[in-house]
Order: sequence, then structure tokens, then C-alpha cells
Amino acid sequence: MTSDILIVGAGLSGAVIGRQLAELGHKITLMEQRDHVAGNCHCARDPETGVMVHVYGPHIFHTDDAEVWDYVNHYAKFQPFNHRVKTTSGDQVYSLPVNLHTINQFFGTAHSPQEAVEFLAKQADTSLGDPQNFEQQALRMIGPQLYEAFFKGYTQKQWGVDPTHLPAAILRRLPVRFTYDDSYFSHAFQGMPEQGYTHLVTRILDHPNITVHLNTPFTRAQAVGFDHVFYSGPLDGWFEYDIGRLGYRTLDFERFTHQGDYQGCAVMNYADEHVPWTRITEHKHFAPWESHAGSVLYREVSRPCGPQDPPFYPIRLTEEQALLHQYAARAQAEQGVTFVGRLGTYRYLDMDVTIREALDTARHFAALTAKGQAMQAFMVSVL
Ligand code: UDP
Repeated sequence: MTSDILIVGAGLSGAVIGRQLAELGHKITLMEQRDHVAGNCHCARDPETGVMVHVYGPHIFHTDDAEVWDYVNHYAKFQPFNHRVKTTSGDQVYSLPVNLHTINQFFGTAHSPQEAVEFLAKQADTSLGDPQNFEQQALRMIGPQLYEAFFKGYTQKQWGVDPTHLPAAILRRLPVRFTYDDSYFSHAFQGMPEQGYTHLVTRILDHPNITVHLNTPFTRAQAVGFDHVFYSGPLDGWFEYDIGRLGYRTLDFERFTHQGDYQGCAVMNYADEHVPWTRITEHKHFAPWESHAGSVLYREVSRPCGPQDPPFYPIRLTEEQALLHQYAARAQAEQGVTFVGRLGTYRYLDMDVTIREALDTARHFAALTAKGQAMQAFMVSVL
């Protein structure tokens, strides 16, 4: 039996769920409030320079999930891309994530891998057995000097709070390496869609059973008449924010142009707290197979997200956790809707995880409908 399905949001979650269910014969109506698909991985050519810009900030595809990698490669051509990030701290440029080159440059040493392990072990605060917050995690891993040079100011700017208030898990996203491997990610598969992510998502959505409505903000009244809704908008937005707003950080992008090459890499972080931006992205370095004389860059400034701003990073501190518990309990009681994606589940999600969850969600829905059963509000734990 096929269903009439409404999907809210044309980002990766909505597109992948829509495509998978369209392939099974379901009829998909997709509503997107923006004037483009692809959510925050939307890419567009800069009219002045012709460079493909990651409009909502840098997105690099990296995964260990072979099925997800095959999935995206089925819909778009990917170019090899190895993300390497530099950071400016004080008056010097260092390599990230912290690796043997960073350690040797920072301390003016020529340590071998084993010597560097022993050296950092002396710097690290090993009394912090089970780090409870971001700062403790950093002090435990790399000691106070590297923490202050590379993480403290950046994290304060990025999250707007003292790193002692942030969960240790945020830092665990970044490795410390005792080799000269300076690849930002350690995943088996990494690449960049040759024609950008919007092209990829457009291809995923290109199916006769899918109708996309852009510039169409969603209201709950629009859900009436559909057999099921997959909602990738903000979880609290579903409830019209009636008990308060879940906190996000938003980003301002200050665009500027340059003739030639401004910084020699795609992403340069700025670790010092007195520099207002966290990083500068030079978009043409995301497409090294193209050639452009001009260059367009974004300075990225993080700040609290207001009601009219696009939400980027879920904050998930104690206050937000309490509100999240309340919204999640109410969502569980809703019938006929499944909350998906970064905004629908209020989680910090990489693109590959988003696609993995979308594939699993679509499969689960198909299995349940085959048995005549209903799908629940969440497929994953959001707390
Ligand atoms: N971070 C930092 N200095 C850096 C890069 C990252 O302090 O130069 C911290 C920061 O708190 C950030 C976290 O490490 O939120 C995770 O970094 P990642 O690059 O994964 O963040 P993303 O840009 O993907 O949000």
C-alpha cells in the first residue's frame, strides 16, 4: 500500500527520505521555506568571481560508511578532496588537528612520535580521570599551553560560553596525532561533489513521485490530509515555541573578495579571542579542479541565534537539555509525524550521519507500513 507523505524541509534528511520512499511508490510532497534545496549545505556560484560558494559555511563530505558513500556517489560525481585546516595563533600559523608538526612547531622541538607522546603526557593533567567538560578534556589530552593557544579562545568565540560549561564530547570530535598526518578527518572516504551539494540534492529529488514546493513555510494546518509527515524543521518550531526556544548559535558571514590567492587554503581558523571571527573560508580551495583568478572569502562570526536567524549549532547546555526533555516528551506523544535531521532532533550532525539516519528512517517506515503499523516520532535518541 502506498501513502501520501509530506516532508518538511529539503535538506539532506528530507531529500533522502523522500527519494527512498518515492522509489517504493509513495507520493511525496516536499515543502521548503527557503528558495533553494540542500539546507545548510547549499552551494551557489558567486556572481562576481564564478567560484562555487558554500553559502552556509564549509561542508566537507567524509565518512566511514560505505553505503552512504556509494549513495552520494550514485547521484553526483565526487572529486577527491583532503581537508587540511590551518590555525593562526598569536603571530604564527600552525597545522590542525594538533599533530606532530603542531607540537614541534609550537614548542620549538624536534620530537619523534614516541618522544612527543611522553612530552605531552608530562603536560597533560592526568589527575582528570574522567573529564567532565570541554576544558578538562583538553587539559587531560594536551595540557594547558596547547589548550590556551588553540582551543580556549576559539571555543569561547564559537559557543559564547566558557569552555568549562561545554560538554567534553565537542572536543572529542578532534583527534591529537603523533604523526605528521594533517588531514582534518580520519575517515576512509572523503570528497567534494564536483558541482556542489545543491546539485547533489537536486539529483536526489529528481523523481516523478516527488513534488518540491520552494518558498513554502510550513504550518501545522498543512499536515492535514497526509498519511505521514517527516519533519526536519526545528523541533520546538513544531510546537510554535510555546514553552520557549531551544538555543542555537548562528553564524554571520562577512563576504569579501581578493585577486589571486588570499590565504592559500580553504579554511584558516583564528584561535585568538581578540580576533572577532572564528575562521575565514576561501571557497575556491574547495574546488581545486577549477581555476579562478578572483577569490571570494567568508569571515565567520558566531553569535546567539535570534528568532529570525538561521539556526546552526544546537547548544545543548543544561538549560537547553531541560527544555529539550519537555519538547521530546511532547513529540513522542504526537501521531503521524517523525522528527528527523539536525533541527528535528536538535543534534550536532555531520552530513554522513544525517544520510545514514535518513536511509534507516525510510527503511523503517517501509517495513512498518508493510505490516500496517504506524511510525513513531523519533527513530533515534535525541536526549
Ligand atoms: N575547536 C577549537 N579550535 C579550532 C577548531 C576547533 O577550539 O581551531 C573546537 C571548537 O570548540 C569546536 C570543536 O573544537 O566547536 C569541534 O571542531 P570542529 O572542527 O569539529 O567543528 P565544526 O566546524 O565541524 O563545527
